[in-house]
Formats: sequence, structure tokens, C-alpha cells
Amino acid sequence: MSNRFRAIVFSTFVIAAGTQPAAAWWDEGHMQIAAVAYDRLSPEIRGKADALIKLNPEYDRWVAGVPDSLKAQYAFIRAATWADDIKGLIEGYTNTGDKATNPQAGRNVGYYDHYSHGYWHFKDIGFSTDGTPVEDADPVNALTQIKALSQGLSSNSGLPDDVRSYDLVWLIHLVGDAHQPLHATARFSQEHKHGDQGGNLDEVVTATGAKMKLHAYWDGLFGGYSTPYGAIFDGLVNPDTKLPEPDATLAVEQDPEKWFQESQKLAIDVTYAEPVRSGTAPYMLDRAYETNALKTARSQAALAAARLASLITAALQ
Ligand SMILES: [Zn+2]
Repeated sequence: MSNRFRAIVFSTFVIAAGTQPAAAWWDEGHMQIAAVAYDRLSPEIRGKADALIKLNPEYDRWVAGVPDSLKAQYAFIRAATWADDIKGLIEGYTNTGDKATNPQAGRNVGYYDHYSHGYWHFKDIGFSTDGTPVEDADPVNALTQIKALSQGLSSNSGLPDDVRSYDLVWLIHLVGDAHQPLHATARFSQEHKHGDQGGNLDEVVTATGAKMKLHAYWDGLFGGYSTPYGAIFDGLVNPDTKLPEPDATLAVEQDPEKWFQESQKLAIDVTYAEPVRSGTAPYMLDRAYETNALKTARSQAALAAARLASLITAALQ
């Protein structure tokens, strides 16, 4: 990575850290997962996915200036961040009155729906190490929506293509979120009796001296702002950075409930390992913690890509 590129990544990292605390695997992570998933699709399934992606209202912007031969691939990868973009970058979407307890919180009505549905991005399966009572996850969450949107995407769901496009675009994002450990848990403690919102209430200090929320540290492990070109190069091409081959046994697991159980366990074992486990915030991360965090994030992203490709194939074949 050149110094110039490092500088760009660092500056976007800091900007994003202040504005998108709950975005998950900022753009680069989500797009790398999408790039690898797209690479794993058969030409037949790709064609069906491409036709659905074209129905997203942002499609023309996603492919502006992109050579025709690359448009479909770039749009699929760019679609991975749409669910975050509607939290503020794209006009017309709102979270006002949009709550996980609303009767319509889990509706699947396509692009007609202008709620940004922030609670679709996680399922906090709580844990505690000091005996603090744990509260239930939201009734509508990333797991309920991955199940509902997968059914909607299915070729025999009977839903119009507008809705199936919406389902696909959301799923490309949510399967990534399901593999970010802090999108599967919250720690309940005497300091945070109602949970730490997936690591959003305490800060860490990294080896570079950067201070950020624990959640933002994990979201940013692949870098911040990116492009489909960058995600393809980093995630698929560059031998130094490309995502590893996923564990073959784990990769075929298609039950999203298991994905969240795995992520929650990884959060307890890795994300909330020492010094986060029993230190005092802000937690000074050490080499062992940061090395393990990056390794875990990369293996989780590789799994997310394989499982996303299988989910799309099962739905569209
Ligand atoms: Zn998300």
C-alpha cells in the first residue's frame, strides 16, 4: 500500500469513525465480501442477480463512467453499501418513527419503503461477565430479516422484481453484517446495565494511538471509504491482502441462526478478550489483540462471501 493511499484510508477512517458508528465493516469490508461472492456465482446466477440489481434506484450512479464489460460486477459490489447509504447519503430515507417494535418494522415491500431500518443491521444476543441481567434482542433484527428477505428473493416467492431487487441488495449487506462479531452481541455490565450497544459505548486505543469506539475499530479493520475497483483488487487480486479461502466445513452452513451464534461466540472469545474483558476503558489494545482481531475479521469476511454466494444461488436457481 502506498503512503498516499494510506493517508487517504486514514483520513476517511477518522471521518467515518465520527459519523457512522454502527455501519459495520465500513465500505471496503462490505465490498470485498461482495466482490468475492460475485466471483463465486455461476454465469447463470450472475445474470439473474445482475437483472435485479439494475432495478435499484441508484444503479445509474453506480455504473456512471464504468466500461460496459464491468458494469454488472461493479454494480453488484457497490450495492453492498446501499443499506448504509440510505442512513444519510441518499436523500428521501428516514429513521423518524422507524422502530424495531413497530408492527411494520419487518415489512418487505421493496423500494416503496423509505425507512432506513437501522435495527435490521444487527441482532444483539447479550452476554455478561459480572452477573448483570441480559436483555432480549430486538424483535425485528438482522436474523429475522435475513430469513424474510431470503424467502422474498426466491424465484418462486411470487413477489415482483422490484421487491426481489430490494431483498437482494439488502442481503448482500446483511450477510456481511451477520459476520461482524459486534453485530451479534452486546455486553451487559454494571457500567452498562442496558448493554453496550455492540461495543458502541466504550473506546479503545490502537497501536497507532488512534482512539475510537470498540465497534468502530472492528468495523474499520478492512479500511473505510472504498470503490468497487479497490475492493476487487484488495479482496480478490492482491496476494498480500486477498481474503483467505474459507473453512470448507463452516462455509456450507446456510442456517443464519448459526451464523449469529458463531459471531456471538467470536465476540466473547476475541472481541471482548483482554484487555477489553477486564480492563478499564479506554482499552489499550496490544499486539496479540490486534493480530487476532484482523485474522478473525478476515476469516469471517471469507465465510460471509461463500455463504452469501450460496444463499443467492439457492434463491435464484
Ligand atoms: Zn450494516
